[in-house]
Amino acid sequence: MKDVRVKDVTEKLEAWAPLSLAEAWDNPGLTVGNPESLITGVVTSLDITPQVVDRAKEVGANFIVSHHPYIFKGMKQITLTTAHGRLIADLLKHDISIYAMHTNLDIVSGGLNDEAVKRLGLENTDVLDKTGQEDFVKLRVFVPELEADKVRQAIGNAGAGAIGNYSHCSFSVTGTGRFLPLRGAHPAIGQVEILTNVREEEISVVVPRPVLSKVVKEMLAVHPYETPAYEVVSLDVPHKAYGLGRIGSFAQALSFDDFKERVQEAFPQAHLRLGGHKCQCIQRIALCTGGGAEFIDKAASLGADAYITGDVKYHDMQRAKELGLLVVDAGHFGTEEMAAKLLAGKIKEALGQLGRPDIEVEAFSEQRDFFF
Ligand SMILES: [Zn+2]
Repeated sequence: MKDVRVKDVTEKLEAWAPLSLAEAWDNPGLTVGNPESLITGVVTSLDITPQVVDRAKEVGANFIVSHHPYIFKGMKQITLTTAHGRLIADLLKHDISIYAMHTNLDIVSGGLNDEAVKRLGLENTDVLDKTGQEDFVKLRVFVPELEADKVRQAIGNAGAGAIGNYSHCSFSVTGTGRFLPLRGAHPAIGQVEILTNVREEEISVVVPRPVLSKVVKEMLAVHPYETPAYEVVSLDVPHKAYGLGRIGSFAQALSFDDFKERVQEAFPQAHLRLGGHKCQCIQRIALCTGGGAEFIDKAASLGADAYITGDVKYHDMQRAKELGLLVVDAGHFGTEEMAAKLLAGKIKEALGQLGRPDIEVEAFSEQRDFFF
């Protein structure tokens, strides 16, 4: 059976949702643990809590992937006198690693906000608050024909050729490569001081810039040549914006009651509180999973009839009323508990690609809102 380490899975997750997508204040990634540990099982959750850690121990899992990072700011002590310190000590004692996908999961295409869009059935969606834009380069690499598939597979697994809902996209042409190995060279094909001709494929792939160094590293690792020939070209094409929250529309306007029902179906664990401006014709919807009250003005300025988020305070609702915007506070937990399932699905996919679909992945769903 193939060994799968923590770092093998986190590399796959980051090829999809790079840490560089996250907000500057955030702290996603491996928080506690050992990237070299062999994975025995995985549990996913919204938060890292003693209950989740106990569940991991119960099912023999040594890797927990959560949405919220367990450590956010600098810690001055880790001691057994605090609940925080005891939990970290417990994780280390049992060789359990914890890893967070936070604002990178909110922002990435197909991440948490897009999951909310899907559940609500919104169409023609766009980003609500732009945090950056996609940046692609083109990688061209020259490979002997017989080794081309191996290189294509390796760079595809590292995130090259990821375009929209497609991965491993590439284009190839065949031709003749020529080189003269000089004294001191150790050519994989041909001999020193003899001009060599080889049937080669030129593989072209579009690469998201955040994964470029990883893609090049993986390409170099499997490329048979001592000195592979490759080039990286910047692409001057319109780039898609990425960011937090989404705005889109229902195919048909809904009444207040039907809208409320739709939101409850989309977020079954949520205790809904509706406020601001009550309207009866609701079609254009903005949303931000988690606590997104700061985008109330933005949602109104982009013409939303209603805005769905969590952690909405009294004065936020007052502001929404002034702006003529209906606001649904579906709770922080209510809008994000789906993260556990989403993460479990992505990890199962990664384990399948790594040749270990047998490793158990459990979405921990026992956890409930802190509110009664
Ligand atoms: Zn959150």
